Amino acid sequence: MTDVDVIIVGAGPTGLMLAAELRLAGVRPLVLERRPEQGTTPKAHGLSGQILDLLGYRGLLDRVRGLATDPVPPHRFPFGGVHVDLTRFDEPPLKALSVRQQLLERLLEEHALELGAKVRRGHEVIGLSQDGAAVTARVRGPEGEYEITAPYLVGCDGGRSPVRTLAGIGFPGTTYPEVNRIGQVKIPDGLTVHDNGDIETPGLGRIKAGYTRTDNGVFALGSLTPGIVFIQTTEEDLGEVDDDMPMTLTELGDSIRRVLGGDVPLGEPVRLSRYQFSSRQAERYREGRVLLAGDAAHLLPSTGTAINVGMSDSVNLAWKLAAEIQGRAPEGLLDSYHTERHAAGARALLQSQAQVALRRGHDEAAEALRTVFQELLGDEQPARRLAEHLAGTDLRHPMPGSGHALAGTFVPDLALETDQGATSVGELLRQARPVLLDLADRPELRALAQGLVDVQVAKAEDRPADVLLIRPDGYVAWAGDTDTDGLREALATWFGA
Ligand SMILES: Cc1cc2nc3c(=O)[nH]c(=O)nc-3n(C[C@H](O)[C@H](O)[C@H](O)COP(=O)(O)OP(=O)(O)OC[C@H]3O[C@@H](n4cnc5c(N)ncnc54)[C@H](O)[C@@H]3O)c2cc1C
Repeated sequence: MTDVDVIIVGAGPTGLMLAAELRLAGVRPLVLERRPEQGTTPKAHGLSGQILDLLGYRGLLDRVRGLATDPVPPHRFPFGGVHVDLTRFDEPPLKALSVRQQLLERLLEEHALELGAKVRRGHEVIGLSQDGAAVTARVRGPEGEYEITAPYLVGCDGGRSPVRTLAGIGFPGTTYPEVNRIGQVKIPDGLTVHDNGDIETPGLGRIKAGYTRTDNGVFALGSLTPGIVFIQTTEEDLGEVDDDMPMTLTELGDSIRRVLGGDVPLGEPVRLSRYQFSSRQAERYREGRVLLAGDAAHLLPSTGTAINVGMSDSVNLAWKLAAEIQGRAPEGLLDSYHTERHAAGARALLQSQAQVALRRGHDEAAEALRTVFQELLGDEQPARRLAEHLAGTDLRHPMPGSGHALAGTFVPDLALETDQGATSVGELLRQARPVLLDLADRPELRALAQGLVDVQVAKAEDRPADVLLIRPDGYVAWAGDTDTDGLREALATWFGA
Protein backbone atom coordinates (compact mmCIF):
# COMPACT_ATOMS: atom_id res chain seq x y z
CA MET A 1 0.00 0.00 0.00
CA THR A 2 1.04 3.55 -0.60
CA ASP A 3 0.28 6.77 1.20
CA VAL A 4 -2.45 7.44 -1.36
CA ASP A 5 -6.15 6.93 -0.55
CA VAL A 6 -7.58 7.76 -3.96
CA ILE A 7 -5.91 7.72 -7.38
CA ILE A 8 -7.56 10.30 -9.62
CA VAL A 9 -6.89 9.78 -13.32
CA GLY A 10 -7.05 13.08 -15.23
CA ALA A 11 -6.34 16.71 -14.28
CA GLY A 12 -9.30 18.35 -16.01
CA PRO A 13 -11.85 20.38 -14.05
CA THR A 14 -13.50 17.21 -12.69
CA GLY A 15 -10.31 15.55 -11.41
CA LEU A 16 -8.89 18.73 -9.89
CA MET A 17 -12.16 19.58 -8.14
CA LEU A 18 -12.32 16.04 -6.79
CA ALA A 19 -8.75 16.31 -5.47
CA ALA A 20 -9.58 19.52 -3.59
CA GLU A 21 -12.82 18.17 -2.15
CA LEU A 22 -11.13 14.94 -1.01
CA ARG A 23 -8.49 16.99 0.79
CA LEU A 24 -11.22 18.97 2.55
CA ALA A 25 -12.71 15.65 3.64
CA GLY A 26 -9.35 14.58 5.08
CA VAL A 27 -8.12 11.92 2.64
CA ARG A 28 -5.02 11.83 0.43
CA PRO A 29 -5.61 11.96 -3.33
CA LEU A 30 -3.00 11.63 -6.06
CA VAL A 31 -3.85 13.01 -9.50
CA LEU A 32 -2.17 11.28 -12.47
CA GLU A 33 -2.30 13.28 -15.70
CA ARG A 34 -0.92 11.94 -18.95
CA ARG A 35 -0.03 15.37 -20.39
CA PRO A 36 3.32 16.73 -19.19
CA GLU A 37 1.92 20.27 -19.39
CA GLN A 38 -1.57 21.69 -19.39
CA GLY A 39 -3.24 21.26 -22.83
CA THR A 40 -3.25 24.33 -25.08
CA THR A 41 -6.27 23.53 -27.30
CA PRO A 42 -9.03 25.94 -26.25
CA LYS A 43 -12.07 24.15 -24.89
CA ALA A 44 -14.74 25.71 -22.71
CA HIS A 45 -15.13 29.43 -22.61
CA GLY A 46 -17.92 29.44 -20.07
CA LEU A 47 -18.76 28.12 -16.64
CA SER A 48 -22.39 28.00 -15.64
CA GLY A 49 -24.95 26.54 -13.31
CA GLN A 50 -25.13 25.42 -9.74
CA ILE A 51 -21.40 24.77 -9.40
CA LEU A 52 -20.96 28.56 -9.22
CA ASP A 53 -23.03 28.61 -6.01
CA LEU A 54 -21.00 25.72 -4.63
CA LEU A 55 -17.74 27.49 -5.50
CA GLY A 56 -19.15 30.47 -3.61
CA TYR A 57 -19.80 28.28 -0.56
CA ARG A 58 -16.19 27.05 -0.73
CA GLY A 59 -14.92 30.64 -0.86
CA LEU A 60 -13.62 30.31 -4.43
CA LEU A 61 -16.13 32.33 -6.41
CA ASP A 62 -14.26 35.64 -6.26
CA ARG A 63 -11.13 33.92 -7.56
CA VAL A 64 -13.15 32.39 -10.41
CA ARG A 65 -14.82 35.74 -11.17
CA GLY A 66 -11.35 37.26 -11.38
CA LEU A 67 -10.66 34.97 -14.35
CA ALA A 68 -13.71 36.04 -16.37
CA THR A 69 -12.76 37.56 -19.70
CA ASP A 70 -15.93 39.59 -19.65
CA PRO A 71 -16.94 41.03 -16.26
CA VAL A 72 -20.56 41.25 -17.39
CA PRO A 73 -22.31 37.87 -17.19
CA PRO A 74 -23.72 36.67 -20.53
CA HIS A 75 -27.21 38.02 -21.23
CA ARG A 76 -28.31 35.12 -23.36
CA PHE A 77 -27.73 31.44 -22.87
CA PRO A 78 -27.78 29.39 -26.09
CA PHE A 79 -30.27 26.57 -26.42
CA GLY A 80 -30.26 24.58 -29.65
CA GLY A 81 -30.31 27.51 -32.08
CA VAL A 82 -32.52 29.68 -29.85
CA HIS A 83 -31.62 31.28 -26.52
CA VAL A 84 -32.79 31.98 -22.99
CA ASP A 85 -32.79 35.71 -22.24
CA LEU A 86 -31.32 36.14 -18.76
CA THR A 87 -31.66 39.94 -18.59
CA ARG A 88 -35.32 39.73 -17.60
CA PHE A 89 -34.48 38.25 -14.17
CA ASP A 90 -33.28 40.31 -11.18
CA GLU A 91 -31.76 37.12 -9.75
CA PRO A 92 -30.91 34.97 -12.78
CA PRO A 93 -32.00 31.34 -12.31
CA LEU A 94 -28.96 30.36 -14.40
CA LYS A 95 -25.65 31.92 -13.45
CA ALA A 96 -22.87 32.00 -16.04
CA LEU A 97 -19.36 33.42 -16.34
CA SER A 98 -17.12 33.67 -19.39
CA VAL A 99 -14.08 31.83 -18.05
CA ARG A 100 -11.52 30.01 -20.18
CA GLN A 101 -11.17 26.38 -19.21
CA GLN A 102 -7.35 26.58 -19.05
CA LEU A 103 -7.54 29.36 -16.48
CA LEU A 104 -10.18 27.52 -14.49
CA GLU A 105 -8.02 24.39 -14.43
CA ARG A 106 -5.00 26.39 -13.31
CA LEU A 107 -7.01 27.86 -10.44
CA LEU A 108 -8.46 24.50 -9.42
CA GLU A 109 -5.00 22.94 -9.45
CA GLU A 110 -3.62 25.77 -7.32
CA HIS A 111 -6.50 25.30 -4.89
CA ALA A 112 -6.00 21.50 -4.73
CA LEU A 113 -2.24 21.92 -4.16
CA GLU A 114 -2.84 24.54 -1.46
CA LEU A 115 -4.98 21.97 0.33
CA GLY A 116 -2.21 19.38 0.05
CA ALA A 117 -3.25 17.26 -2.96
CA LYS A 118 -0.50 15.74 -5.11
CA VAL A 119 -0.49 16.04 -8.90
CA ARG A 120 1.86 14.13 -11.20
CA ARG A 121 1.93 15.31 -14.81
CA GLY A 122 3.32 13.17 -17.63
CA HIS A 123 1.97 10.01 -15.94
CA GLU A 124 -0.44 8.00 -18.07
CA VAL A 125 -2.55 5.17 -16.65
CA ILE A 126 -2.26 2.22 -19.02
CA GLY A 127 -3.60 -0.66 -16.96
CA LEU A 128 -5.89 -1.44 -14.05
CA SER A 129 -6.65 -4.33 -11.75
CA GLN A 130 -8.67 -4.55 -8.58
CA ASP A 131 -9.60 -6.98 -5.85
CA GLY A 132 -11.75 -6.72 -2.73
CA ALA A 133 -9.18 -4.53 -0.93
CA ALA A 134 -7.56 -2.19 -3.46
CA VAL A 135 -7.02 -1.00 -7.02
CA THR A 136 -3.68 -1.10 -8.78
CA ALA A 137 -2.95 1.20 -11.69
CA ARG A 138 -0.17 0.55 -14.15
CA VAL A 139 1.37 3.89 -15.08
CA ARG A 140 3.75 5.05 -17.80
CA GLY A 141 5.77 7.94 -16.35
CA PRO A 142 8.77 9.97 -17.49
CA GLU A 143 11.11 7.44 -15.88
CA GLY A 144 9.38 4.34 -17.13
CA GLU A 145 6.49 2.17 -16.06
CA TYR A 146 5.45 1.56 -12.47
CA GLU A 147 2.47 0.39 -10.44
CA ILE A 148 0.60 2.22 -7.75
CA THR A 149 -2.07 0.86 -5.41
CA ALA A 150 -4.79 2.64 -3.45
CA PRO A 151 -8.16 1.75 -1.92
CA TYR A 152 -10.06 3.59 -4.70
CA LEU A 153 -9.46 5.00 -8.17
CA VAL A 154 -11.62 7.56 -9.98
CA GLY A 155 -11.55 7.96 -13.76
CA CYS A 156 -11.86 11.69 -14.48
CA ASP A 157 -10.10 11.02 -17.76
CA GLY A 158 -12.51 12.57 -20.25
CA GLY A 159 -14.88 11.34 -22.94
CA ARG A 160 -12.61 8.59 -24.23
CA SER A 161 -11.83 7.44 -20.68
CA PRO A 162 -9.30 4.58 -20.72
CA VAL A 163 -10.36 3.90 -17.10
CA ARG A 164 -13.94 3.30 -18.22
CA THR A 165 -12.75 0.86 -20.87
CA LEU A 166 -10.30 -0.89 -18.52
CA ALA A 167 -13.08 -1.26 -15.91
CA GLY A 168 -15.38 -2.79 -18.55
CA ILE A 169 -18.10 -0.15 -18.20
CA GLY A 170 -20.25 0.39 -21.30
CA PHE A 171 -20.79 3.89 -22.71
CA PRO A 172 -23.89 3.62 -24.88
CA GLY A 173 -25.23 6.50 -26.93
CA THR A 174 -24.66 8.39 -30.15
CA THR A 175 -21.79 10.33 -31.66
CA TYR A 176 -23.25 12.85 -34.08
CA PRO A 177 -21.58 13.21 -37.47
CA GLU A 178 -21.39 17.03 -37.40
CA VAL A 179 -18.02 18.62 -36.75
CA ASN A 180 -18.06 22.21 -35.54
CA ARG A 181 -15.11 24.50 -36.13
CA ILE A 182 -14.92 27.82 -34.31
CA GLY A 183 -12.74 30.82 -35.05
CA GLN A 184 -12.63 34.19 -33.39
CA VAL A 185 -10.46 36.23 -35.70
CA LYS A 186 -9.41 39.85 -36.07
CA ILE A 187 -11.04 41.68 -38.97
CA PRO A 188 -8.50 41.62 -41.84
CA ASP A 189 -8.16 43.88 -44.90
CA GLY A 190 -10.68 42.87 -47.53
CA LEU A 191 -13.45 42.08 -45.03
CA THR A 192 -16.11 44.66 -44.30
CA VAL A 193 -18.27 44.35 -41.20
CA HIS A 194 -21.58 46.22 -41.36
CA ASP A 195 -23.27 47.80 -38.34
CA ASN A 196 -25.86 45.02 -38.14
CA GLY A 197 -23.10 42.36 -38.01
CA ASP A 198 -23.35 41.28 -41.68
CA ILE A 199 -20.00 40.88 -43.45
CA GLU A 200 -18.99 41.59 -47.03
CA THR A 201 -16.24 39.74 -48.88
CA PRO A 202 -14.81 40.39 -52.37
CA GLY A 203 -15.74 36.92 -53.65
CA LEU A 204 -18.94 35.97 -51.82
CA GLY A 205 -20.58 39.37 -51.40
CA ARG A 206 -22.73 40.06 -48.36
CA ILE A 207 -23.20 37.31 -45.76
CA LYS A 208 -25.81 37.90 -43.08
CA ALA A 209 -25.14 37.72 -39.34
CA GLY A 210 -26.60 34.55 -37.80
CA TYR A 211 -26.91 31.28 -39.63
CA THR A 212 -26.39 30.60 -43.35
CA ARG A 213 -27.40 27.06 -44.23
CA THR A 214 -26.12 25.50 -47.45
CA ASP A 215 -26.20 21.98 -48.91
CA ASN A 216 -22.77 21.42 -47.38
CA GLY A 217 -23.35 22.65 -43.87
CA VAL A 218 -23.98 25.72 -41.72
CA PHE A 219 -21.96 28.93 -41.51
CA ALA A 220 -22.64 30.95 -38.35
CA LEU A 221 -21.50 34.51 -37.95
CA GLY A 222 -21.53 36.73 -34.89
CA SER A 223 -19.57 39.38 -33.12
CA LEU A 224 -19.02 39.44 -29.37
CA THR A 225 -16.11 41.83 -29.17
CA PRO A 226 -15.42 44.93 -31.28
CA GLY A 227 -12.82 44.25 -33.97
CA ILE A 228 -13.31 40.48 -33.78
CA VAL A 229 -15.61 38.27 -35.85
CA PHE A 230 -16.91 34.99 -34.53
CA ILE A 231 -17.27 32.28 -37.16
CA GLN A 232 -18.49 28.74 -36.77
CA THR A 233 -18.88 26.10 -39.45
CA THR A 234 -20.81 22.88 -39.04
CA GLU A 235 -20.20 20.04 -41.47
CA GLU A 236 -21.02 16.39 -41.54
CA ASP A 237 -17.59 14.81 -41.41
CA LEU A 238 -16.94 11.12 -41.34
CA GLY A 239 -14.96 9.79 -38.43
CA GLU A 240 -14.29 11.11 -34.95
CA VAL A 241 -12.45 14.29 -34.11
CA ASP A 242 -9.07 13.98 -32.42
CA ASP A 243 -9.12 16.53 -29.60
CA ASP A 244 -5.33 16.50 -29.39
CA MET A 245 -4.88 17.76 -32.99
CA PRO A 246 -4.60 21.56 -32.78
CA MET A 247 -7.08 23.43 -34.92
CA THR A 248 -5.54 25.77 -37.50
CA LEU A 249 -6.64 28.81 -39.49
CA THR A 250 -6.11 26.80 -42.71
CA GLU A 251 -8.51 24.11 -41.44
CA LEU A 252 -11.14 26.78 -40.70
CA GLY A 253 -10.60 28.44 -44.10
CA ASP A 254 -10.95 25.09 -45.91
CA SER A 255 -14.14 24.33 -44.02
CA ILE A 256 -15.63 27.76 -44.87
CA ARG A 257 -14.80 27.15 -48.55
CA ARG A 258 -16.59 23.78 -48.50
CA VAL A 259 -19.68 25.24 -46.78
CA LEU A 260 -20.02 28.57 -48.62
CA GLY A 261 -18.26 27.72 -51.89
CA GLY A 262 -15.77 30.60 -51.54
CA ASP A 263 -13.24 32.25 -49.26
CA VAL A 264 -13.80 34.56 -46.32
CA PRO A 265 -10.65 36.58 -45.49
CA LEU A 266 -9.54 35.68 -41.95
CA GLY A 267 -7.35 37.88 -39.76
CA GLU A 268 -5.13 36.87 -36.87
CA PRO A 269 -6.91 34.22 -34.77
CA VAL A 270 -7.78 34.99 -31.16
CA ARG A 271 -9.29 31.56 -30.59
CA LEU A 272 -9.60 28.44 -32.71
CA SER A 273 -11.31 25.24 -31.64
CA ARG A 274 -13.12 22.26 -32.98
CA TYR A 275 -15.62 19.92 -31.41
CA GLN A 276 -17.95 17.09 -32.20
CA PHE A 277 -21.00 16.22 -30.16
CA SER A 278 -21.78 12.92 -28.53
CA SER A 279 -24.66 11.96 -26.36
CA ARG A 280 -23.48 9.14 -24.13
CA GLN A 281 -23.69 8.01 -20.53
CA ALA A 282 -21.76 5.33 -18.67
CA GLU A 283 -23.95 2.37 -17.77
CA ARG A 284 -22.76 2.63 -14.19
CA TYR A 285 -20.58 5.13 -12.35
CA ARG A 286 -19.03 2.48 -10.10
CA GLU A 287 -17.42 -0.87 -10.73
CA GLY A 288 -16.11 -2.16 -7.41
CA ARG A 289 -13.34 0.21 -6.34
CA VAL A 290 -13.28 2.13 -9.61
CA LEU A 291 -15.57 5.12 -10.11
CA LEU A 292 -16.20 7.52 -12.99
CA ALA A 293 -16.90 11.26 -12.99
CA GLY A 294 -17.17 14.12 -15.49
CA ASP A 295 -16.91 13.54 -19.24
CA ALA A 296 -15.75 9.98 -18.52
CA ALA A 297 -19.28 9.35 -17.21
CA HIS A 298 -21.34 11.49 -19.59
CA LEU A 299 -20.98 13.42 -22.82
CA LEU A 300 -23.54 16.11 -23.60
CA PRO A 301 -24.30 17.15 -27.17
CA SER A 302 -24.42 20.90 -26.46
CA THR A 303 -22.08 23.53 -25.06
CA GLY A 304 -22.15 25.49 -21.86
CA THR A 305 -23.18 23.04 -19.16
CA ALA A 306 -20.81 20.03 -19.15
CA ILE A 307 -18.27 21.37 -16.65
CA ASN A 308 -21.06 22.09 -14.18
CA VAL A 309 -22.22 18.49 -14.37
CA GLY A 310 -18.67 17.08 -14.10
CA MET A 311 -17.53 19.22 -11.18
CA SER A 312 -20.84 18.54 -9.41
CA ASP A 313 -20.12 14.80 -9.74
CA SER A 314 -16.87 15.42 -7.86
CA VAL A 315 -18.55 17.36 -5.07
CA ASN A 316 -21.15 14.60 -4.63
CA LEU A 317 -18.55 11.84 -4.66
CA ALA A 318 -15.76 13.26 -2.47
CA TRP A 319 -17.39 13.22 0.97
CA LYS A 320 -18.93 9.78 0.37
CA LEU A 321 -15.64 8.29 -0.77
CA ALA A 322 -13.84 9.88 2.19
CA ALA A 323 -16.37 8.42 4.65
CA GLU A 324 -15.88 5.00 3.06
CA ILE A 325 -12.08 5.25 3.30
CA GLN A 326 -12.26 6.50 6.89
CA GLY A 327 -14.47 3.55 7.82
CA ARG A 328 -17.46 5.63 8.94
CA ALA A 329 -19.73 5.31 5.88
CA PRO A 330 -23.17 3.83 6.42
CA GLU A 331 -24.21 0.94 4.20
CA GLY A 332 -24.99 2.11 0.66
CA LEU A 333 -23.46 5.59 0.98
CA LEU A 334 -20.94 5.15 -1.82
CA ASP A 335 -23.54 3.53 -4.08
CA SER A 336 -25.71 6.63 -3.65
CA TYR A 337 -23.10 8.40 -5.80
CA HIS A 338 -24.25 6.37 -8.82
CA THR A 339 -27.92 6.72 -7.90
CA GLU A 340 -27.81 10.49 -7.53
CA ARG A 341 -25.32 11.49 -10.19
CA HIS A 342 -26.42 9.03 -12.88
CA ALA A 343 -29.90 10.55 -12.52
CA ALA A 344 -28.38 14.06 -12.69
CA GLY A 345 -26.40 13.10 -15.81
CA ALA A 346 -29.54 11.67 -17.43
CA ARG A 347 -31.38 14.93 -16.71
CA ALA A 348 -28.54 16.98 -18.23
CA LEU A 349 -28.63 14.71 -21.28
CA LEU A 350 -32.35 15.33 -21.60
CA GLN A 351 -31.99 19.10 -22.10
CA SER A 352 -28.89 18.62 -24.20
CA GLN A 353 -30.49 16.09 -26.57
CA ALA A 354 -33.53 18.33 -26.88
CA GLN A 355 -31.11 20.97 -28.19
CA VAL A 356 -29.92 18.56 -30.88
CA ALA A 357 -33.47 18.05 -32.10
CA LEU A 358 -34.14 21.78 -32.03
CA ARG A 359 -31.04 22.90 -33.93
CA ARG A 360 -30.67 20.11 -36.48
CA GLY A 361 -33.35 20.64 -39.10
CA HIS A 362 -32.70 23.01 -41.98
CA ASP A 363 -36.16 23.08 -43.57
CA GLU A 364 -39.05 25.49 -42.99
CA ALA A 365 -40.70 23.22 -40.44
CA ALA A 366 -37.54 23.19 -38.34
CA GLU A 367 -37.31 26.99 -38.58
CA ALA A 368 -40.93 27.19 -37.46
CA LEU A 369 -40.18 24.97 -34.46
CA ARG A 370 -37.30 27.23 -33.42
CA THR A 371 -39.45 30.34 -33.84
CA VAL A 372 -42.27 28.91 -31.72
CA PHE A 373 -39.79 27.73 -29.06
CA GLN A 374 -38.16 31.16 -28.94
CA GLU A 375 -41.58 32.78 -28.57
CA LEU A 376 -42.38 30.49 -25.64
CA LEU A 377 -39.11 31.46 -24.01
CA GLY A 378 -40.29 35.06 -24.17
CA ASP A 379 -42.56 34.25 -21.21
CA GLU A 380 -41.01 34.28 -17.77
CA GLN A 381 -42.18 30.89 -16.50
CA PRO A 382 -40.87 28.72 -19.38
CA ALA A 383 -37.63 30.75 -19.45
CA ARG A 384 -37.14 30.20 -15.71
CA ARG A 385 -37.99 26.51 -15.94
CA LEU A 386 -35.52 25.93 -18.77
CA ALA A 387 -32.82 28.03 -17.09
CA GLU A 388 -33.15 25.92 -13.92
CA HIS A 389 -32.91 22.75 -15.96
CA LEU A 390 -29.76 24.02 -17.68
CA ALA A 391 -28.28 25.09 -14.33
CA GLY A 392 -29.05 21.74 -12.70
CA THR A 393 -30.81 23.57 -9.87
CA ASP A 394 -34.07 21.73 -10.50
CA LEU A 395 -32.51 18.50 -9.24
CA ARG A 396 -34.12 16.97 -6.20
CA HIS A 397 -32.53 13.91 -4.64
CA PRO A 398 -34.84 11.55 -2.73
CA MET A 399 -34.10 11.99 1.00
CA PRO A 400 -35.24 9.35 3.50
CA GLY A 401 -36.92 10.70 6.63
CA SER A 402 -38.20 14.04 5.33
CA GLY A 403 -41.08 15.13 3.16
CA HIS A 404 -40.24 18.83 3.57
CA ALA A 405 -40.09 20.84 0.34
CA LEU A 406 -36.43 21.72 0.97
CA ALA A 407 -35.27 18.13 1.51
CA GLY A 408 -33.22 16.97 -1.46
CA THR A 409 -32.66 20.44 -2.86
CA PHE A 410 -29.50 22.58 -2.86
CA VAL A 411 -29.48 24.74 0.27
CA PRO A 412 -30.03 28.49 -0.22
CA ASP A 413 -27.35 30.83 1.12
CA LEU A 414 -29.30 32.11 4.14
CA ALA A 415 -27.88 35.00 6.12
CA LEU A 416 -27.49 33.85 9.75
CA GLU A 417 -27.12 35.50 13.13
CA THR A 418 -25.24 33.42 15.72
CA ASP A 419 -23.79 34.02 19.21
CA GLN A 420 -20.42 34.41 17.50
CA GLY A 421 -21.76 37.05 15.07
CA ALA A 422 -23.14 37.19 11.54
CA THR A 423 -22.46 34.33 9.16
CA SER A 424 -24.17 32.48 6.31
CA VAL A 425 -24.93 28.97 5.16
CA GLY A 426 -22.16 29.35 2.56
CA GLU A 427 -19.61 30.09 5.27
CA LEU A 428 -20.74 27.08 7.30
CA LEU A 429 -20.02 24.91 4.24
CA ARG A 430 -16.57 26.39 3.52
CA GLN A 431 -14.72 23.32 4.84
CA ALA A 432 -17.22 20.88 3.26
CA ARG A 433 -18.37 19.55 6.63
CA PRO A 434 -21.93 18.37 7.24
CA VAL A 435 -23.94 20.62 9.53
CA LEU A 436 -27.14 20.55 11.51
CA LEU A 437 -28.45 24.09 11.42
CA ASP A 438 -30.89 24.80 14.24
CA LEU A 439 -32.90 27.93 13.49
CA ALA A 440 -35.52 27.49 16.24
CA ASP A 441 -33.61 26.32 19.31
CA ARG A 442 -34.50 22.64 19.24
CA PRO A 443 -32.11 21.00 21.75
CA GLU A 444 -33.75 17.57 21.35
CA LEU A 445 -32.85 17.55 17.64
CA ARG A 446 -29.35 18.93 18.24
CA ALA A 447 -28.69 16.13 20.71
CA LEU A 448 -29.29 13.51 18.00
CA ALA A 449 -26.68 15.08 15.72
CA GLN A 450 -24.01 15.88 18.29
CA GLY A 451 -20.71 14.15 17.51
CA LEU A 452 -21.83 13.11 14.01
CA VAL A 453 -22.01 16.45 12.23
CA ASP A 454 -21.25 20.08 13.10
CA VAL A 455 -24.11 21.68 15.00
CA GLN A 456 -24.87 25.38 14.64
CA VAL A 457 -27.59 27.35 16.40
CA ALA A 458 -28.58 30.51 14.54
CA LYS A 459 -31.38 32.87 13.66
CA ALA A 460 -32.47 33.60 10.11
CA GLU A 461 -35.09 35.94 8.76
CA ASP A 462 -37.93 33.99 7.09
CA ARG A 463 -36.48 30.67 8.17
CA PRO A 464 -37.49 27.99 5.66
CA ALA A 465 -37.66 25.27 8.37
CA ASP A 466 -36.86 24.98 12.08
CA VAL A 467 -33.90 22.68 11.51
CA LEU A 468 -31.87 21.75 8.41
CA LEU A 469 -29.42 18.90 8.09
CA ILE A 470 -27.03 19.90 5.30
CA ARG A 471 -24.66 17.49 3.56
CA PRO A 472 -21.12 18.59 2.63
CA ASP A 473 -22.21 18.91 -1.03
CA GLY A 474 -24.80 21.53 -0.06
CA TYR A 475 -27.87 19.30 -0.39
CA VAL A 476 -30.47 19.39 2.36
CA ALA A 477 -30.64 15.87 3.79
CA TRP A 478 -33.46 16.66 6.18
CA ALA A 479 -35.64 19.64 7.06
CA GLY A 480 -38.33 19.81 9.71
CA ASP A 481 -39.34 20.85 13.21
CA THR A 482 -40.02 18.17 15.83
CA ASP A 483 -39.83 14.88 13.95
CA THR A 484 -37.00 13.15 15.82
CA ASP A 485 -37.62 9.82 14.04
CA GLY A 486 -37.22 11.47 10.64
CA LEU A 487 -33.99 13.19 11.64
CA ARG A 488 -32.68 9.96 13.15
CA GLU A 489 -33.35 8.17 9.85
CA ALA A 490 -31.64 10.90 7.85
CA LEU A 491 -28.58 10.89 10.12
CA ALA A 492 -28.37 7.11 9.87
CA THR A 493 -28.67 7.19 6.07
CA TRP A 494 -25.94 9.76 5.48
CA PHE A 495 -23.72 9.83 8.53
CA GLY A 496 -24.07 6.38 10.08
CA ALA A 497 -25.72 7.16 13.40
C1 LIG B 1 -14.50 23.36 -28.07
C2 LIG B 1 -15.14 22.99 -26.77
C3 LIG B 1 -15.91 23.95 -26.12
C4 LIG B 1 -16.51 23.63 -24.91
N1 LIG B 1 -17.24 24.60 -24.28
C5 LIG B 1 -17.76 24.35 -23.05
C6 LIG B 1 -18.39 25.40 -22.31
O1 LIG B 1 -18.48 26.54 -22.74
N2 LIG B 1 -18.87 25.09 -21.07
C7 LIG B 1 -18.77 23.84 -20.54
O2 LIG B 1 -19.24 23.62 -19.42
N3 LIG B 1 -18.16 22.85 -21.22
C8 LIG B 1 -17.65 23.07 -22.45
N4 LIG B 1 -16.98 22.08 -23.12
C9 LIG B 1 -16.89 20.74 -22.49
C10 LIG B 1 -15.77 20.71 -21.44
O3 LIG B 1 -14.55 21.09 -22.06
C11 LIG B 1 -15.66 19.31 -20.87
O4 LIG B 1 -16.93 18.93 -20.37
C12 LIG B 1 -14.64 19.23 -19.74
O5 LIG B 1 -13.32 19.37 -20.21
C13 LIG B 1 -14.73 17.88 -19.02
O6 LIG B 1 -13.85 17.90 -17.93
P1 LIG B 1 -13.25 16.54 -17.36
O7 LIG B 1 -12.31 16.96 -16.29
O8 LIG B 1 -14.35 15.61 -17.02
O9 LIG B 1 -12.46 15.88 -18.59
P2 LIG B 1 -11.26 16.49 -19.45
O10 LIG B 1 -11.24 17.96 -19.37
O11 LIG B 1 -11.36 15.85 -20.78
O12 LIG B 1 -9.96 15.99 -18.70
C14 LIG B 1 -9.55 14.65 -18.75
C15 LIG B 1 -8.07 14.60 -18.48
O13 LIG B 1 -7.68 13.24 -18.37
C16 LIG B 1 -6.42 13.08 -18.99
N5 LIG B 1 -6.26 11.66 -19.34
C17 LIG B 1 -6.91 10.96 -20.29
N6 LIG B 1 -6.48 9.68 -20.31
C18 LIG B 1 -5.57 9.57 -19.32
C19 LIG B 1 -4.77 8.49 -18.84
N7 LIG B 1 -4.85 7.27 -19.37
N8 LIG B 1 -3.91 8.71 -17.82
C20 LIG B 1 -3.81 9.95 -17.26
N9 LIG B 1 -4.52 11.01 -17.68
C21 LIG B 1 -5.41 10.82 -18.70
C22 LIG B 1 -6.50 14.01 -20.19
O14 LIG B 1 -5.21 14.34 -20.66
C23 LIG B 1 -7.24 15.20 -19.61
O15 LIG B 1 -6.38 16.17 -19.10
C24 LIG B 1 -16.37 22.34 -24.35
C25 LIG B 1 -15.60 21.38 -24.99
C26 LIG B 1 -14.98 21.69 -26.20
C27 LIG B 1 -14.15 20.65 -26.88
